[in-house]
Amino acid sequence: IQKIGVLTSGGDSPGMNAAIRSVVRTCAYHKINCVGIYRGYQGMIEGDFKPMDARSVNNIINKGGTVLKSARCMDFRTKEGRSAAHKQLKAEGIDAFVVIGGDGSFTGAMVFNQEYDFPVIGIPGTIDNDIFGTTFTLGFDTALNTVVEVIDKIRDTASSHNRLFFVEVMGRDVGHIALNAGVGAGAEEILIPEEDLGLERLVESLKRSKESGKSSSIVIVAEGDKTGKNVFELKEYVEKHLPIYDVRVSVLGHMQRGGSPSCYDRVLASRMGVKAVEALLEGKTSLMVGIQDNQLILTPLEMAIKGHTKIDKELIRVSDIMTT
Ligand code: ADP
Repeated sequence: IQKIGVLTSGGDSPGMNAAIRSVVRTCAYHKINCVGIYRGYQGMIEGDFKPMDARSVNNIINKGGTVLKSARCMDFRTKEGRSAAHKQLKAEGIDAFVVIGGDGSFTGAMVFNQEYDFPVIGIPGTIDNDIFGTTFTLGFDTALNTVVEVIDKIRDTASSHNRLFFVEVMGRDVGHIALNAGVGAGAEEILIPEEDLGLERLVESLKRSKESGKSSSIVIVAEGDKTGKNVFELKEYVEKHLPIYDVRVSVLGHMQRGGSPSCYDRVLASRMGVKAVEALLEGKTSLMVGIQDNQLILTPLEMAIKGHTKIDKELIRVSDIMTT
């Protein structure tokens, strides 16, 4: 392998730049060429490439988003699209790539690898932490810090007015952000997709919380939670069944995907980038870099895509105890 391409694809997350930097510098360290592929698979199909050396990634470790831009690309889902991408890679002399993204991006990489026997390695970049084969995805820790910081601020105003806040956080169909940020911010209740708390229990718990003299209540709601009600419907429900509260809603939205990456994410990105390039140089392919027990591990892309992450039951119990 003489030339490695690097791209960011799908939903962005903090830490992607730190991972790009690591891939580029690891290539420089091993004296092989590195090419930035812009706008994910779309840029690959269009040949939107730029050679990168160690100096072209100066001062990006601390930046949110991705300097290579990201995109969703319908064409890469077709044989013709992937064939065009393969031609572009060959013309540029790229003989392997590292893709930083989520399970959609990994599916694209896996299919491409099967069709062209092209070496690919994935780095999990998503705030949702929903990828099998790694305890942490890039951006998760940063998103948690962002969410906790915002909830602290909401708490200030909630307690000044004795209010109840429903705060919706991201996570697609998993509750990792909600559960961890909820424990970290001392939320009264946490609604996640993995557990159906039931609306009656929620109302009972909020009632108890009020009676015990709490001046404010924060309920964290994962966007995919199982109550079947969104935050606005939850507000209505509680106003109807528990009129003792002044209820407000806050949907945190895309701010959770932005911001300067935490130190943890920067270190993780640096480690994963080295591992990804060195795996390619060792002849490995169609694998994702992950971290488990603070060791970097490689998982077949197929498993990373198909497998499901598990919610931390012990943390659910801790959360229950903390809301006593
Ligand atoms: P994420 O990587 O964050 O899960 P997406 O699901 O949007 O984001 O996937 C990113 C890109 O990966 C898609 O826009 C598409 O180009 C490519 N991709 C996703 N699924 C497939 C597939 N089944 N076959 C080929 N390419 C795919």
